[in-house]
This record gives sequence, C-alpha cells and structure tokens, in this order.
Amino acid sequence: ITREDVRNVAIIAHVDHGKTTLVDELLKQSGVFRDNQEVAERVMDSNDIERERGITILSKNTAVTYKNTKINIIDTPGHADFGGEVERVLKMVNGVILVVDAFEGAMPQTKFVLKKALELDLNVIVCINKIDRPEARPAEVEEEVLELLLELDANEKQLDCPFVYASAKAGIASLSPDEPGTDMQPLFETILKYIPAPTGDPDAGTQILISTIDYNEYVGRIGVGKVDNGTIKLNQDAIIVNHHEPDKYRKVKIGKLYEFEGLNKVEVNEAGIGSIVAISGISDIHIGDTICSPDDPEPIPFQKISEPTIAMHFMVNDSPLAGKEGKFVTSRHLRDRLFRELNTDVSLRVEETDTTESFKVSGRGELHLSVLIENMRREGYEFAVSKAEVIYKEDEKGKKLEPFEIAVIDVPDEFSGTVINMLNQRKGELQGMAPTGNGTTRLEFSIPSRGLIGFRGDFMTATKGNGIINTMFDGYQPYKGDMNYRSQGSLIAFESGESITYGLFNAQERGTLFIGPGEQVYGGMVVGQCGKAEDIEVNVCKKKQLTNTRASGSDDALKLTPPKILSLEQALDFIDTDELLEITPKSIRIRKKILD
Ligand code: GDP
Repeated sequence: ITREDVRNVAIIAHVDHGKTTLVDELLKQSGVFRDNQEVAERVMDSNDIERERGITILSKNTAVTYKNTKINIIDTPGHADFGGEVERVLKMVNGVILVVDAFEGAMPQTKFVLKKALELDLNVIVCINKIDRPEARPAEVEEEVLELLLELDANEKQLDCPFVYASAKAGIASLSPDEPGTDMQPLFETILKYIPAPTGDPDAGTQILISTIDYNEYVGRIGVGKVDNGTIKLNQDAIIVNHHEPDKYRKVKIGKLYEFEGLNKVEVNEAGIGSIVAISGISDIHIGDTICSPDDPEPIPFQKISEPTIAMHFMVNDSPLAGKEGKFVTSRHLRDRLFRELNTDVSLRVEETDTTESFKVSGRGELHLSVLIENMRREGYEFAVSKAEVIYKEDEKGKKLEPFEIAVIDVPDEFSGTVINMLNQRKGELQGMAPTGNGTTRLEFSIPSRGLIGFRGDFMTATKGNGIINTMFDGYQPYKGDMNYRSQGSLIAFESGESITYGLFNAQERGTLFIGPGEQVYGGMVVGQCGKAEDIEVNVCKKKQLTNTRASGSDDALKLTPPKILSLEQALDFIDTDELLEITPKSIRIRKKILD
C-alpha cells in the first residue's frame, strides 16, 4: 500500500546556498510552530566545522506537517562519501530537493550526492534559491542545472523536474521566475505532488534498515531508519540481523520509539510503513542492521561499508608543553574518546598499538581524519598526530595496490595550468577539463590518494584560496611509483638576532621569501615571531586576520601577500611532517629549521 500521509525527501545543497534558511522557513510556515514562536535553533549544519569546510558531516532529520501530511526532510552530507552514508540516507527517501543559489549555480560538491540520487531513480525538485539577490540569474542557473542532470545521466522523468524559485530569506517561493510568490506554499505543494508517497506491505514482517546512528550521552546509541514493511511497536520483541552476518542475529525489545517532529524526536507507541523512526535502548545497534519481527526475520541487503584507505597515529602528548592548555590527556582519555567515535562513525577504525600511548586510526581519506582531529581539538583534547599514510593492499598475485581517488577541481582559469602541473607531479592523471563559463575551469583527475596528502594546503595557496577541490575514493589500483614533488607552500623559520621569525613560503606567488629588517616579506607571509628556542611554536590563527602580516616595497607586494586565515589543518598542511613535534588546541610545535 501507499502511505499517502507521508513524504520522505532528502535535501541536497552546496554549503551557503540556503538549505538551513529554507528548512527553517518550512518549519515556521508548516504550523508545527505557533505563529509567534521563533525557530529557536538552526536545524542543520549545527557543526561549525561543517560550515568552515563547506561540508556536512552528519545527516540530520527534520519533519514538518503540511495539509495533514508529514514531510520528513533529511539532510545529506555535502561532501564526497565517507563510507556509504549518502546511499544509506538516500534509500530512506523517495525524492530530493536540490537547492541551488540563483547566482552561483550548481557547485561540483553537490554532484556526487546528486548522481547517487539519480542512480537510485529518485525524483528531483530543483529549488533555485536567493532569487532576491540583485545578481540572481535564475534562467541561466536553470539551464546549468539541466545540463548537469544530463551529464549525470538523469532519466527522462528526472530531466522533467519541477523548478521552484525561492527566497528562503524572505520566506517566499514561486513556480515562475518572474512572480515572487507570497509564501512557501508552492514548494510544499510541489513536494506533495512530485515526491511519491512511500510504499510497503503493512501486513508483512517488520523490516527497518538502520541507516544512521545517533549517539546521546543519556540514552546511548539511537538507530534511525525507515519502516520498509510491517509495523513497529513499543515493547515489542524484535530480531536484529545484519545482511552481511545473517548468523549473528539477536533478540531485543523495542525500548523507546520516536518519530521526528519539527526539530525534535517525539515518543510514539507505534509506527507504520514509510515512517522514519528512531529507536533507542538497543546498545549494540549498528548501521546496516535490520530490525525484524521475531517470526519472520529477513535482513535487508545494503552496500557493505567500505574499508579505510588512510591511517594516522594519534599519540599522547608527553612533551613539556602538554597540559598547559586544554584538557590534560592521558592515554586512557585518548583511548576512550577515539573508541567513542566508533559509535557513530562506521567507516573509522581504531586500533591499539604496541605502546599504550599511541593509537592507529584509519579512515576514508585525509579529510575524514582531519575532521576528527579538529573536532577533538575543539573539545579540548591535546594530542599529537603522525603523518597520514595510505593503506596498501596486495592482490592475489602479490602485486602492491594503493588507493586512488577522483578529484574534481574548480579553479579560476588562470590557475588551471599550475594546478595541472602540481597534480601531474603527484601522479595525477587529467581525465577531463571543461570551462564552466564563469571564468573557472573544471578539472577531473584520477590520482593515488598518496598524492592528495597535504595537497589541500598547496592547492589553496596556489589558487589564492579561490579553488574548490572535491575528492572521492575510486578503488584500489596498482602502485603508481614514487612521487617527486616539493610542497609549494612550506612553513619556515629564520633566526634573526634575538628572535626567530617564521612564515609561510609560497613559491607560487614569488620565487623567494625574503624577510628583511622589520620582518618584511615578499611572496609569503610572516606568521609570527618567537624568542630563541630549540623548537618553535606556531600559533594558529583562526577566523582572524594575521595582524602582523606586512608586505614591503611596492603595492604589488601588498597585493601578492594578502593576510590569510589559517585553520589548524591548513597550517598543518604547510609543515613537513617530519618536523612536527606536537599540535595543541592553539599551536603547532615544530622543530626549528633554519634556512641557509
Ligand atoms: P546553508 O549553508 O545551505 O545551510 O545556508 P544558510 O541557510 O545558512 O544560508 C547561507 C547564507 O545565505 C545566510 O547568510 C543566509 O541568510 C543567506 N540566504 C539564505 N537564503 C537566502 C535567500 O533566499 N536570499 C538571500 N539574499 N540570502 C539568503
């Protein structure tokens, strides 16, 4: 049967295109809230790391009710997949809303998620947002989106998608680019009309595939999934079974059952097909588990979670500086924190090593691990990390294989030559190159994951912060041979009299970094100064201009060395990891390196 009173839809958007504002507005206008009640908390993207990096790490659920229909809105990660998450989320829905900025147009980051949605045969609603922007160009953006859909092999039904023109900020939407609309009703109506209602067999045995795991200190693990068949009831007996391990089934009782309402979970006694539910009280619930009725347990197949490709050691910080700031971290703290992460992140591995002071952490690419490092750092953990290393494998014949990635890069036209060179040196192979029409070129590379370690920093420097890079794991391939490149941006230090000056050397901008009297600098930037020391400490500035950045000489030099904002991760990218001694919440300590 069809569950007419439910719609399940995922939202796909590039960061800043207005997804949060749009969902807030749908909440406000759906009647879930009293008219005068503000949406207290912004729904999605609550993790500020996500915003800074332009990615969404966690999928979140929101639900609104419109004309007696419950619309579950599920956020999708905006990055290339960390471990099958995108697919699992998309399997809960019957359609997607693609939110696109009316000026910026569709961005490459959304491409991977959109492609998965198209492959799963989901209907697409395109919401061209920010039509109130003076530079909005909805007609062109519409064309671009259609071209993108064509490029991604959309089927006829998908190419025939409805377009909704919105200003989420003004709370209005319209089916025509020329008429502004008065509220969000056109979008609501389009969802009801165009997103198919979920279907299933209510009389069959219960089947709920756990698609995401939430973790809450008080209730523990919470499994979230859609009721595919049957019903689920509070206190009922159930069997949990995993498609990949059918023998390991176990009996449980459904302790607490929730549905989503607005921004909250509300307890319910029962849920039927098409409902998206959250279940707590089952301590060993995992992604990919199916909750079934005891009499007819049948696991739902799901894509096996892919193996990690990159590893790093997280180490207790036993240097003299440890404990000065943030939490003092013992190996026990570090261990507990890392193992806790496994509750919600299925594509992460944590292993003990020969020493209790060090843990091997493996994940899906450098970005995956650096998100964890930064999260932990923000929580106040102090620890050191080793250089990232790719995980090699051997095929049946003993041949060495290494992980490869597809990198999709958008750069201003003038930088494309430089970027191609940089990636060629890192064994990248250019597979496609096309102008986007906005003065940028889109490059597509196949490259060993190895070549991408530390690349983001160089890339940002080389493109003066104007490049966008998105990468996706592309399987294991034969080892490509040694690489021969020198990092384009490196963190270096000079001893001058009483102090050491250190800066980022950026060979792309000018061949030499020159620090003269008064720490003037060409072609690079001064990060800071410290007194004589065996090791130097580099303070990482965040969201703040480096005030001591100065350029000397001509105005030209000034232009070449704009103040830059560094995140810890970016700063790390500039450091030769052999020199890395430790990272703390606010600083990086490196071994002194004095140039000849
Ligand atoms: P998200 O990153 O996709 O969740 O984007 P947000 O909803 O946080 O919006 C990013 C920025 O765009 C914020 O400053 C919003 O105020 C702004 N914004 C969102 N919708 C609109 C819109 O319709 N018009 C204009 N002019 N700005 C908008």
